[in-house]
Amino acid sequence: MISVKEYVALHKAEIKKELENLNEKIHFVIVSMNDDEASKAYIKGKLKDSEEVGIFAEVVRLPLDASQKDMDDLIEKLNNDPSVHGLIVQMPLPKQIDEERVKRLVSPKKDVDGFNPLSKVAPCTPKGIINFLKHLEFNFVGKNAVVIGRSNIVGRPMAQLLLNESCNVTVLHSKTSKEDFNNYVANADLIVVATGRKYLLNKSHKLKESAYVIDVGINRVDGKLYGDCEPELPVAYQTPVPGGVGLLTRVTLLDNLLDIYKDR
Ligand code: NAD
Repeated sequence: MISVKEYVALHKAEIKKELENLNEKIHFVIVSMNDDEASKAYIKGKLKDSEEVGIFAEVVRLPLDASQKDMDDLIEKLNNDPSVHGLIVQMPLPKQIDEERVKRLVSPKKDVDGFNPLSKVAPCTPKGIINFLKHLEFNFVGKNAVVIGRSNIVGRPMAQLLLNESCNVTVLHSKTSKEDFNNYVANADLIVVATGRKYLLNKSHKLKESAYVIDVGINRVDGKLYGDCEPELPVAYQTPVPGGVGLLTRVTLLDNLLDIYKDR
């Protein structure tokens, strides 16, 4: 079966081709108000991906001690700038800034992350997972899908998108009992794990041999990256960490930019 890496390379080439046929370059702005290493790496990745496919991306920085009003004013200015097609505010933000407010302030017409409830696009991680599963010709209809994690950016939208594909969807979370957890995963055809708990799903769990396991987790331990799933589970397909969902999320940001541009 095709690896995530191979799929992303193919899909990027398709996006590049489509962008070449536009009359102008898409203009993408990333607002940054954070200098932690992870955020810097994510921004670097977004700039690199954009350049690779021919999108003009720029970073607009706010000082770490800027106020909520400074952030609000900047978002309003970018929302109203017709030369800007897509806009994201890199999270997390300093304590004095209300992240939920920021998500709602970014115009739904420019919200590439899909975080505004009125956004025209779905959040990148779950959307990328659905697109990849479609490419693998995973047959969603009537399948038992288990989503582990219920965050607003991964678990919940993932469950919604799987429901749209006619899966039977169960969402597990930190209050799910161990017994229920074991029963639900044992009966699952598709398991999406997004908890930030290293190896939460592991070889002690009974799983269907035909199951697909999508590992969203990113856990940094002693400078190494681990997923939420133990590698090499006895299932039909499992995405690796690194080299899995992170790549899907990145390429889907480009999809969302293109979708937003076409729909403006
Ligand atoms: P979050 O902290 O907002 O949510 C975690 C969820 O896991 C919660 O809903 C909680 O109920 C659930 N949970 C915690 N412990 C559990 C347990 N023992 N059993 C069952 N459920 C449990 O996290 P998030 O933003 O959804 O991210 C989840 C993970 O995915 C993190 O590791 C994050 O870094 C990663 N992530 C990766 C990408 C990517 O592109 N690869 C994108 C987004 C998030």
